[in-house]
Amino acid sequence: MRRPIKDEFTDLPVSRQRKYQLRMQRDKRCTECGKPAVQGSRCVVHLVKARERQRIKRGLKRRYYNTLSYQLERSLAA
Ligand SMILES: [Zn+2]
Repeated sequence: MRRPIKDEFTDLPVSRQRKYQLRMQRDKRCTECGKPAVQGSRCVVHLVKARERQRIKRGLKRRYYNTLSYQLERSLAA
């Protein structure tokens, strides 16, 4: 049997998902898939996904092509 993780987040009154996110953040990894995060809190894939998700939710029309997620996206495609 796997022993439970015992760390600074174990006894926090938050959900298991939130604890996962906090642990990933502490270890500089993507808060969604756990791969190493380039910068910020997510890997490039999820950075882009989060951006597009937020665009729809907030009804945004403009695209700021010099922001991090676009730059990283370009550097991957090139
Ligand atoms: Zn990810």
